[in-house]
Amino acid sequence: MSNAGRRSELARSLRTVRERIDRACAQADRDAGDVTLIVVTKFFPAEDVRRLHDLGVRDFGENRHQEASQKFPPLREEGRELRLHFIGQLQSNKAAAVAGYADVVQTIDRPRLVGALARGAREGHRPVDCLVQIDLEDLDARCPSASARGGITPDQALTLSDLVAASDLLRLRGVMAVAPLGIDPAPAFRVLQGIARRIRADHPEAQWISAGMSGDLEAAIAHGATHVRVGTAILGSRPPVR
Ligand SMILES: *Cc1c(COP(=O)(O)O)cnc(C)c1O
Repeated sequence: MSNAGRRSELARSLRTVRERIDRACAQADRDAGDVTLIVVTKFFPAEDVRRLHDLGVRDFGENRHQEASQKFPPLREEGRELRLHFIGQLQSNKAAAVAGYADVVQTIDRPRLVGALARGAREGHRPVDCLVQIDLEDLDARCPSASARGGITPDQALTLSDLVAASDLLRLRGVMAVAPLGIDPAPAFRVLQGIARRIRADHPEAQWISAGMSGDLEAAIAHGATHVRVGTAILGSRPPVR
């Protein structure tokens, strides 16, 4: 596809998603400015990030260290102001490196990561915004094993939040979750909102709820999402998973 063709395709889908967000906010009696759209550019080239940036997008999401660490530093060197959100499962041995370039790490789901992220933030001389990832898969204990998508159980979320908040260069900003696949996401988002409220009681700065993707952003906004992470609805379908 030509450059102009891709650009207008992205402009169109971006507009559609922004309209969905505005409508969902209106329905939930919320201010549209309260919801940040994070465009998830995983699997798509830096050229698409540039096009989206030219269209006004400033928040981007990536889920793989290798890809993110190659794609984004050159864009910053071009002088583009942007916030990079790391939304993939974090390996302990990559966490420090991720904290070196990501502005937000959304997927903190075990105590071990906290020390590594703090080290990365310290080495990079920059604070990192952090979200604790909640596992919403086994709310009714249908699947007792840890979910493949990662996340900490709701009852351990407070302790992990305390740990993040206690670290100098890590700024606890709230919670993140992926709704369970194939069932109504609303009950899961409601649970997430309750967890967020409990964390906020101890940590008033933890105002963010990152929830909602291409298929369920309306339900997430109805339940207090402050950040939605949208890939497919803007960029099109990704190549099949490796
Ligand atoms: C890929 C991804 C998204 C975007 O999903 P879409 O359905 O393509 O909008 C959101 N959140 C996470 C954690 C992801 O890995």
